[in-house]
Amino acid sequence: MGTARRAPVPKDMSCAEVFARVQEYLDRELNPDEVEAVKAHLDYCPPCARGFVFEESVFETVRLKLAASACPEDLMARLRECLEACDES
Ligand SMILES: [Zn+2]
Repeated sequence: MGTARRAPVPKDMSCAEVFARVQEYLDRELNPDEVEAVKAHLDYCPPCARGFVFEESVFETVRLKLAASACPEDLMARLRECLEACDES
């Protein structure tokens, strides 16, 4: 703890804001305050919660596939492309 200066975290994220952060959340790049804000939104927004659970499982699957095939570092940038490719195969 001991965060002297905290980033402005909206208490009431819109669904769009949540989804914009979900990918960062999945990559554990959010600070604790942001994680809490996302979790809080998912708590009272079932549509987002369902989308989040879906994305988490899908992203985890893709991540494992990429790890197995030794994809380059810019994972997140290519994740969506890989995701679609994996989906169609
Ligand atoms: Zn929502």
